[in-house]
Amino acid sequence: MPEPIYLDHAATTPVRQEVLDAMVPFYGPRFGNPSSAHRWGRDARTALDEARERVAHCLGARSDEICFTSGGTEADNIAILGAWRALSGSGRRAVVTTPIEHKAVLGAVHQAAKEGAQERFTAMRDTGAVDLSSFNDVVRNDTAIASVMWVNNEIGTIQPIDDLARHAKSVGALFHTDAVQAFGNVAIDASTVPFDVLTVSGHKIGAPKGIGAVFIRRGLVIEPLFHGGTQDRGRRPGTENVAAAVGFARAAELAVAEREAHWLQLERLRDRLEAGILARVPDAVVHGRGGPRAPHIVNVSVPGTDSESMLMALDLRGIGCSAGSACQSGSVSPSHVLSAIGVSNELASAAIRMSVGALTTEAAVDRVVEVYPALIAKVRGANAAAAAD
Ligand SMILES: *Cc1c(COP(=O)(O)O)cnc(C)c1O
Repeated sequence: MPEPIYLDHAATTPVRQEVLDAMVPFYGPRFGNPSSAHRWGRDARTALDEARERVAHCLGARSDEICFTSGGTEADNIAILGAWRALSGSGRRAVVTTPIEHKAVLGAVHQAAKEGAQERFTAMRDTGAVDLSSFNDVVRNDTAIASVMWVNNEIGTIQPIDDLARHAKSVGALFHTDAVQAFGNVAIDASTVPFDVLTVSGHKIGAPKGIGAVFIRRGLVIEPLFHGGTQDRGRRPGTENVAAAVGFARAAELAVAEREAHWLQLERLRDRLEAGILARVPDAVVHGRGGPRAPHIVNVSVPGTDSESMLMALDLRGIGCSAGSACQSGSVSPSHVLSAIGVSNELASAAIRMSVGALTTEAAVDRVVEVYPALIAKVRGANAAAAAD
């Protein structure tokens, strides 16, 4: 079998060599606990402080605004639940989000609702964009926090975060954005865009799994989720993952430095993949193409097929993709994202997400395009035969 082809970079990316190299000393001689007062501790503290400073710099933030977490999910939970719990006595009871968020945000909003928040969702346009007049309606002076993802992880659509954050601020609400898929694709600058809280994750940009960060604007009080020591000024107690924080800082710097070239490279691959599939399978439908989108994701459905059979057929050919997000693979219900933007159940249950990355080659894309029609025919044939039984 030819080399396998990984087309699931929206689920996770390989750790970059530069990142691994930066981390290794912290599993060896630089093993100290940053809270210790001796030389080992001071050395680890210095590295951690530098990592925080470097991540802050990449986001246009100040270092006391960056809190390292175990990843995007924890960061989303700190942002939404932490803000809600800090504000729940204020009389602002609404927590607003969109129906296309990652499960980390939807789950946190749902938990806030169990704790007394009124959960409210914006309407979506079928382009994959948040409906602005609906956002302006549901985010008002009773709103504690509104959370809208910058780039969607299933279809790649980009939301107008600056406008949304400005509206939220104008009615006194906090604004959070899940920027996990945006980081490295769009420019993020806390000094010009007035979000209050923002989350990023390491493993989507070439750092390891299990590290992320939440930006918390200076002065904003967030209720911690964990209780214990005074690490990170009590916002996130527990001995810090120094090695991963250092790796994340390196990955973040590379992502920011390479962002524009990376965008062009991925966009070229994505367009080639998309055009190739549409040329060979004319009734294929690509989701979320109607507005601005990040360059790494193609989400495509072909009538008469289903996601699960397609994924298996692709996997047999050594091609790794996903149906919607990785978190829901294995589940049979169609993507909540596609349903929310008006995609029919039939098409949504046939969706395949392919996401390219820095190591994806043109030759790999061409091979996927080459084998795609045969896989479609096979799955369609099997499904038609099953339906006739
Ligand atoms: C991957 C992802 C997350 C979760 O991040 P983890 O580090 O895997 O917990 C959250 N939001 C979006 C948009 C993601 O793509």
